Amino acid sequence: MSEQTSAGHQTYPCNTCGAQLEFSPGSTALTCPYCGTEQHIQLEAKRVVDRDWEALAAKPRRPREAVPPNLFVCTQCGAHTESDSWSEHCEFCGAPVVVDQFNPDLVPPEGVLPFQVDRAGAKSALRTWVKSRWFAPNKFKRVSEAEQLASSYLPHWTWDADTRSRYTGQRGEHYYVEDSNGNRQRRTRWHPAKGAVSRSFDDVVVPATTHVSNKHLEDLAEDWPTQKAAAYQPEFLAGHRTQRYDVEPEVGLSQAKLKMDKVIRRDVKRDIGGDEQRIHSIDTRYSNIKYKLLLLPVWLVVYLFAGKPWQVLVSGQTGRVTGERPWSVWKIAFAVLVGLIVAAGVLYLMYRNSDSGSGTSLGSLGAAAGIF
Ligand SMILES: [Zn+2]
Ligand SMILES: [Zn+2]
Repeated sequence: MSEQTSAGHQTYPCNTCGAQLEFSPGSTALTCPYCGTEQHIQLEAKRVVDRDWEALAAKPRRPREAVPPNLFVCTQCGAHTESDSWSEHCEFCGAPVVVDQFNPDLVPPEGVLPFQVDRAGAKSALRTWVKSRWFAPNKFKRVSEAEQLASSYLPHWTWDADTRSRYTGQRGEHYYVEDSNGNRQRRTRWHPAKGAVSRSFDDVVVPATTHVSNKHLEDLAEDWPTQKAAAYQPEFLAGHRTQRYDVEPEVGLSQAKLKMDKVIRRDVKRDIGGDEQRIHSIDTRYSNIKYKLLLLPVWLVVYLFAGKPWQVLVSGQTGRVTGERPWSVWKIAFAVLVGLIVAAGVLYLMYRNSDSGSGTSLGSLGAAAGIF
């Protein structure tokens, strides 16, 4: 059902009307945006494999910047689009195109989490999120009404490793003494501690793109169900933009190690035991390092506010929203003012009550709250 073009990319023409089909979220089908025709995707019998890192590290690769962009030739209108992405919309007619052959100097995607949340779902998640933002300017509240949601598969590295860490430190044990006034005082007695902990890490996720705010990607990285990833198939990308990675695997690995180290530190503290722990050194050996490149589904909104671009991300898997939001100075100032008036009112009532020597301040608090 796919038609290959000379430039090494694929398009999926509709059998009924000839327009280009798009992957429809939450399904295993391609749908025609014009006539609604559905075509089931024939899933390839492939497995998602965690690849051996040593093998990749030993293989000479051209630096990513030296890898030329892809040339997409639109089969619908014939226009040429040069792009750094792995799937695109034709700049001129909007028809979707997906890269067919990956440049041998790049790591190809191993798996993809196909979109589960469609445009309508992403919009309603965004609307709920925007509504629940306190002190946001009114103009921001209209963000979810605008047609500016774009579906993107964003590249992420996943890392597995077995670690063994030898550590030295101190274990603190609390004890109590009585001072001259008979008060109990807590002291800590420190004992030297050393040992080793080990762990098997599976699918530590780190973003492989710098085009989207790392903070927001890290926020979403918490709950990607990586084990649900399907083996890469170009059909899942049709109609959605896919960014090529721009974080080299070496950099991804060092970021994954930072995440692993945080877990290892917790393990070491637990292993030291006692009431308090001091860590002096940790020496970690990583073995059996495996990696894969995954494409993860995100609805992106970039909006301009106060002359600066802001990013909001909606997970295409769960509909969870994360992102930047502006604060309304006026609304905050107004809330602070109302708060001051309430506080002044409460103080006034408390003062009056204590003056007359009757009534409880709690009662007047309630009365003051009732006024506003
Ligand atoms: Zn059609
Ligand atoms: Zn075109």
